[in-house]
Amino acid sequence: MPPRRRKLPNILFFGIDSLLADHMSCYRYGRLTTPHLDRVAAQGTLFERYYSPHIPTTSGYANMLTGMDVFSTQVVALRHKGPMRAEIKTLPEILREVGYTTTCVGFRGNAAARGFDTYIDFDSGWKTFEQGRMPKAENLNQATLPELDRLTKQKQPWLLFLRHLDPHSPYLPPAPFERMFYGGNECDPKNRSMDALKEFKPFRDYLLSWMPEGITDKDYVIAQYDGEIAYMDACIRTLFARLEAKGILDETLVVITSDHGETLYDHDCYFDHHGLYDVTLHVPLILRYPGAVPAGKRVGGYSQHYDLVPTVLELAGVESGIQFDGTSLLPMVRGEVASHRSEFYITECTWMRKHGWRTPQWKLIRALEPDFHFKPAVELYNLVEDPTEYNNLAEQEPEVVKILSARMDAWIAQRMAETGLPNPIENQGDWHGHEGVGPFKTSQQAYDTLHIGTPRQAQQLQAKAKGEK
Ligand SMILES: [Zn+2]
Repeated sequence: MPPRRRKLPNILFFGIDSLLADHMSCYRYGRLTTPHLDRVAAQGTLFERYYSPHIPTTSGYANMLTGMDVFSTQVVALRHKGPMRAEIKTLPEILREVGYTTTCVGFRGNAAARGFDTYIDFDSGWKTFEQGRMPKAENLNQATLPELDRLTKQKQPWLLFLRHLDPHSPYLPPAPFERMFYGGNECDPKNRSMDALKEFKPFRDYLLSWMPEGITDKDYVIAQYDGEIAYMDACIRTLFARLEAKGILDETLVVITSDHGETLYDHDCYFDHHGLYDVTLHVPLILRYPGAVPAGKRVGGYSQHYDLVPTVLELAGVESGIQFDGTSLLPMVRGEVASHRSEFYITECTWMRKHGWRTPQWKLIRALEPDFHFKPAVELYNLVEDPTEYNNLAEQEPEVVKILSARMDAWIAQRMAETGLPNPIENQGDWHGHEGVGPFKTSQQAYDTLHIGTPRQAQQLQAKAKGEK
């Protein structure tokens, strides 16, 4: 158990959207993208192998905020219909019962965002290139700082949940961050690296709308993503400075994580967060709470989003009486357990409907219907020898496919029996948002049907996940 605290701690929870752990300098990225968060990590504990097993946004936040997996929440799709099951409690709902005041910034209306006392919006910037660069994190600060002042003036402990959207496309960081990691000519006609994206009809209209006209260099776009992280990092420093000025930083439990990662130019996924590859599943987790969480510790074992709520509650000293699917990570921090779960079930239901099984060595991906990238129905990667997952071994290693499929199916059967509920990925109907179409029969049909238009339409696609007020 952590040392007993005099009172319930305030909790500052960064639930950042689309932050790829491997592009943060504290996760050994070659560019210095997160100098401030690196310092926070050095003052707290960082989890090296922390995963979002059920991507993307709606399902990822559902696991992050409930301590439950996809079978318990039944939330698997980005465009989840209706509310999350009433039997499942969210972190703000649990904390409100023991006297917390709870505020959510930038995450209103989503099925996974249930249970806060106060919701605050900010301009999170779904803009085109012509409309100019977007100070998303400064807008978030402007909305958050007065709320932080209000929360710290009242007597109750508080939970402040912030959803930054800076690493989420459109990547339009303000100066000087747009040139921080790029000094070349992004429109060099000799560079052909963007040709494949320009051919990809479902995404190209949206993606090109927020890139400079004549863009040819994919590395420029990746540098914009990195610039967004660096810009957000600088703005987050302002929030920490405010807590320091109030003298309450060290009595505040700080959580930093993300709903899912981001696929940049890998696997034909083009600056989005679909595909069950590690770039999208591997997310950061940093905890800072001096006295209860050791400083400078890096935990090497495996952990998942549903472990976070039990961890936060143990650190806060809150007994919820809930049987979570996840397990508190503090035994891992103390070195008593290497990993609670080193192999686990993974799902995506965003632009493709797939599931799979990940072990420390292997990743199996099985399509539930043909996808718009014309990828094979079964993929198998050796994560030790091929960590970037480009060498599909499904045909060479049928025995491994068979073993992993059996382990995945056994887990699905076990969880269905334990919850008395179906596997939600099996019954998603028009998960893609096209009414009456049902599962795609061919990849060509998926390719011809799916399309993101303008940034405004992209924002509406995200907002469609609204299940309740
Ligand atoms: Zn997201």
